[in-house]
Amino acid sequence: MSQQTLFPIDDTPLGSPSCHDCKLCQVRTKIVFPTHPAASGILAIGEAPGAEEDVTGEGFIGKAGKKLDSLMAAHGIARSQYGRANVVRCRPPGNRKPDTEEKEACLPKLAAAILKFEPKVLLLVGGTAVEAFLGKGLVFDHVMQSRRSPVCDLGKAHKALRNGLRPLLDRQEGLLCVPMPHTSGLAWNRYAKDGSRWSELGAEQVALAVRHAHAERTGDQPASTPGISSQLVV
Ligand code: SF4
Repeated sequence: MSQQTLFPIDDTPLGSPSCHDCKLCQVRTKIVFPTHPAASGILAIGEAPGAEEDVTGEGFIGKAGKKLDSLMAAHGIARSQYGRANVVRCRPPGNRKPDTEEKEACLPKLAAAILKFEPKVLLLVGGTAVEAFLGKGLVFDHVMQSRRSPVCDLGKAHKALRNGLRPLLDRQEGLLCVPMPHTSGLAWNRYAKDGSRWSELGAEQVALAVRHAHAERTGDQPASTPGISSQLVV
């Protein structure tokens, strides 16, 4: 991957605050816009805003978001030092998964945010985000693949992302994606198919994302063994 200077933080709105491009506009309270990856270069991408995010317009503030904050803090990365986004920006009723039409309407906006922010690493949190970027399959299998190589094969990504991210790939050699399980209590306490707790694999994937982002910023080679904590000075 080529070394790039991080873009300065730009508060230009990343889309219309009154978007009506899919039916979720009828049930949302506020659109939750992506935030800049900041000094860490990491953009965490989840599925959709939850109830608290819908009311406040701020992403990743519920229990699952706090869990991610604590995992990042273990590497010296404060909440203000990594970015957050979702596959869709408006809350689906009852926290259901976004449907096909909603993803097709909102993923081009996510691609535009990634083009603008140029994050060093995408941390894909949970099955919906993992599938959008890495294609169908078990999250566990995508986790293992990312440990062999985190370079995303955009040929398997949702077509709205493929099309939207093409200009980025003209500018750099690839897009680094690190998948991890959802940080909700329900998902976090389960076991993966190799018997590991999802919480252990999730913490290791955060460490992997931090190492790759650090390597991209400094030009160092990331350590090949996942799961070893590393402090990132940002
Ligand atoms: S989910 Fe996305 S496309 Fe749908 S209304 Fe909200 S911002 Fe617009």
